[in-house]
Amino acid sequence: MTRTDATRVLVIGGGIAGAATALGLHKAGHDVTVFEAHPDTAEDIGAFLTLASNGMRALAQLDATDAVTAIGFPLTSLRLLDSQGTEVAHAPLGEATDPALRYRCVRRGELNAALQGEAARRGIPFHHGARLESVTDGPDGITARFADGTSATGDLLVGADGLNSTVRRLITPGVRPTYAGQRVFYGYSATAPGADPTGTITMVRGSGAAVGYAVSPTGETYWFARVGGDPLPAGAPAQRSAALREQLLPLLRSDSTPAAGLVAAADDAITVTNASELPLGATWRSGRILLIGDAAHAASPATGQGASMALEDAVVLAKALRDLPDPESAFAVYERHRRPRVEYNITVSGGISRGSRTPSRPAPVKTPMAPDEALIRQLVWDTTLSAEPPEKY
Ligand SMILES: Cc1cc2nc3c(=O)[nH]c(=O)nc-3n(C[C@H](O)[C@H](O)[C@H](O)COP(=O)(O)OP(=O)(O)OC[C@H]3O[C@@H](n4cnc5c(N)ncnc54)[C@H](O)[C@@H]3O)c2cc1C
Repeated sequence: MTRTDATRVLVIGGGIAGAATALGLHKAGHDVTVFEAHPDTAEDIGAFLTLASNGMRALAQLDATDAVTAIGFPLTSLRLLDSQGTEVAHAPLGEATDPALRYRCVRRGELNAALQGEAARRGIPFHHGARLESVTDGPDGITARFADGTSATGDLLVGADGLNSTVRRLITPGVRPTYAGQRVFYGYSATAPGADPTGTITMVRGSGAAVGYAVSPTGETYWFARVGGDPLPAGAPAQRSAALREQLLPLLRSDSTPAAGLVAAADDAITVTNASELPLGATWRSGRILLIGDAAHAASPATGQGASMALEDAVVLAKALRDLPDPESAFAVYERHRRPRVEYNITVSGGISRGSRTPSRPAPVKTPMAPDEALIRQLVWDTTLSAEPPEKY
């Protein structure tokens, strides 16, 4: 592989990692095209998620703050309730004083649409309805073939196709997501518990479920509940909201917290999913191909960092391909920077989901997710990415 001024990069998957990576690579002057399996901008897919301050910092480096602060709502403090509803902690959340870096609660579909819209505004080609099936490496580059019979050839291919990545299956077929010990329910309720101002996310340590909720500026409550036990069976049909409500309520009713009331009042958009994670040490790259985002390092959602990690990936990959002399060393340096941090997140988040904070293997980095100087330097667009990462992020 040799470097040309405008490397042709095929990005597979136009979700959070793929769309953000397209913004970064385009900013770095590369010729990037995104291929997304979903036929439209997928506005109604999935529930909500929380972007943390580190994710918002990455977005700012991609000049995409305005696109994302136009949706969702900010969160500036965190409350913790015990199972009796007693407030045991209330503290500022992340970089609460900087409007661009505040935590943000967004519906996943709206976030995808905002990032994809920003890519379109910058003239980045974005093909919807393009589901990758196979990849071949040839003398003219790497060719991706799609289910609709089309194909595309580039110098590099970035697999940003999520938890069940086809790109990952092609380069490392043995690596599969595993169940991280919890099912996660999501819903929205038109009513809000009286004491909760907007801007606060409340976490409830319930006796039967860990619940989190936040009230939007329009008075709607976004909530989730993490519940231990067996995984949802593979391929099982989606359950109706009423059935999911009945599964959850008995786990919440014995506590004196707002959780049962919120679930009882939920509208008909309750969803449930397994918390899944990828094993540590999985292969991320093969020749001209690199995996990023959930395709490389999906973590259980307990720390709420998956989307923010994907946004950090986008910035670091764009800087690596900008600053290193050739794609091979760029991919290697990218991996050296990213692996310790994302695997720390997999370990901590999985530990929380399984009900033990003990990491399954010694965590490679001991830092919390709070920003430190090294992370800020890693993300700042105008700083050259060092070939050797610092000892910790
Ligand atoms: C229950 C739950 C709660 C979560 N809560 C949070 C949270 O609060 N905060 C947070 O930061 N993170 C959260 N996450 C994690 C977060 O959603 C993921 O880390 C994030 O979506 C990863 O982005 P991604 O772009 O890598 O993958 P995805 O968002 O999954 O995007 C992958 C894209 O690739 C496309 N695709 C798939 N296969 C193909 C193919 N063959 N060809 C072309 N395109 C393809 C898909 O259609 C999709 O658009 C949560 C996850 C779960 C499951």
